[in-house]
Amino acid sequence: MAKTSKCGLVRAAAKARQQAVAPYSKFKVGAALVTKSGEIVTGANVESASYGLTCCAERVALFNALTAGKRNFLAVAVVARAPGGPMPCGACRQLLAEYAPHARVWVADSRALYTVREFSVRELLPAAFIEVPKESV
Ligand SMILES: [Zn+2]
Repeated sequence: MAKTSKCGLVRAAAKARQQAVAPYSKFKVGAALVTKSGEIVTGANVESASYGLTCCAERVALFNALTAGKRNFLAVAVVARAPGGPMPCGACRQLLAEYAPHARVWVADSRALYTVREFSVRELLPAAFIEVPKESV
């Protein structure tokens, strides 16, 4: 990744976090994806009064990127005020496994942006369900 450093992507996620809409939990999360060509797409979590409709920052960023025609993601950074950085939930891990399977996942606490923990998507969701078996359709 020549154009976008780990630190730069984490900072982009931290900036995106400022636009989180989290009136219920107050847990603001920002995410930033970078493509192979160096484009950065961000997102933040959006909560609903009907809690189940809430969407995580990672998925907002991913849907934002996918619907803008972006593919080939090299990394995703996720930032929130959480010790050690926020770990993606199961739903986000599933979507990352489908659409960003080779991305590095970088998480950081918003109070310590230079301390970044790194994972692979495969580490976060081993033996992922990726596609509907052909025999079942
Ligand atoms: Zn999630």
